Amino acid sequence: MIKDIKDIGPSKIIQLYFPVTDFNAIVVIDNTALGPSIGGVRVSPNVTVEEVKRLARTMTMKTSVAGLPHGGGKAGIVADPKSPDKERYFRIFANAIRDLNDYIPGPDMGSNEECMAWIHDEIGRVAGLPEEIGGLPLDKLGATGFGLSECAEIACHYVDLELKGARIAIQGFGSVGKAAAKFLSEKGCVLVAASDTRGCVFNENGIDVLELIEIKENTGSVINYPEGYLKGCDEIFSVDCDIFIPAATPDVIHKDNALDIKARLILQGANIPATLEAEEILHKRKVLSVPDFIANAGGVIMAAAEYARKTENEAFNEISEKIKKNTRVILENTFKEGILPREAAEKLAKERILKAMSYKKTL
Ligand code: NAD
Repeated sequence: MIKDIKDIGPSKIIQLYFPVTDFNAIVVIDNTALGPSIGGVRVSPNVTVEEVKRLARTMTMKTSVAGLPHGGGKAGIVADPKSPDKERYFRIFANAIRDLNDYIPGPDMGSNEECMAWIHDEIGRVAGLPEEIGGLPLDKLGATGFGLSECAEIACHYVDLELKGARIAIQGFGSVGKAAAKFLSEKGCVLVAASDTRGCVFNENGIDVLELIEIKENTGSVINYPEGYLKGCDEIFSVDCDIFIPAATPDVIHKDNALDIKARLILQGANIPATLEAEEILHKRKVLSVPDFIANAGGVIMAAAEYARKTENEAFNEISEKIKKNTRVILENTFKEGILPREAAEKLAKERILKAMSYKKTL
């Protein structure tokens, strides 16, 4: 029998402060009922305890629905991701979490495989390593973007959308956004808009994805794409498209722009990109929004595969199989029960966590 458990976490909230080096960081371990928590290290001058807490919960949900032997955690380093002191910060951070064995760090916004290699060098316990030292470089391989494209294959049927020829718009053209564009264009989708912090490029006739990736990597911004209209970065929310992918920061879709979105399908590439209020508005408008911890689980599935020493092929197969199955299950329940996709997904995730928690000693 499942015990009456009031909440699933967070189990630890740790703030690290080193006055001498003026270094601040946050670690939240949300739940470890399914195994040691896993979750990225976000580097941003604005990252807060509240944000890390919400992201850690997202990881708990994500690892649960993906059937991984891990719980959810997250960390934040309060610093500029472009700081020349980055390596030192990561080495200090690694040593500070050395004994926090129920947290396995991974890459997130502002951190990458190189940062994970520094943590590995200090304490060994990390996922998302460069391939030279045994990693499956999930950003380079595009694990999350691949998962989003697999999710799209299933979700498009629920909004009567043909994937071939579907017009996509992507907010945030970083690791996730670029890979999503690449894998979706391989399935016949047409990229019509992409944005980053400097602006948005829009071309209703289609943007050459490989050219845009090269331009972003060589010049730093999508706005240098030669053909199309340039718009302000927030205009991405109202461009005419069939599929919209937020792949940048939290809470970018909110009550003031949820009505502007023209897409029929939203795939949440970023973590918590929409407020609950916005998700309710979208649901009422019959815009289908597949929640983050279903749609963007590709990265953590690959990170867990690396940690378990599996191969790249095994990781890609697992991403495809798990994301397609979970998308189908939650969307069936969404339409059958008339609930929000997020509610259907949380139900599925919590079942497994609560069952695992019920085996824990309470004495
Ligand atoms: P990244 O740092 O590689 O890219 C982020 C991109 O977003 C950059 O191009 C940046 O310019 C852009 N951006 C930031 N603010 C913006 C704004 N206001 N408007 C438009 N663009 C903006 O990060 P990433 O790894 O691609 O992660 C993106 C999101 O996806 C994050 O929310 C992250 O938590 C989530 N996520 C990442 C992974 C992964 O495998 N990397 C997995 C799951 C979820």
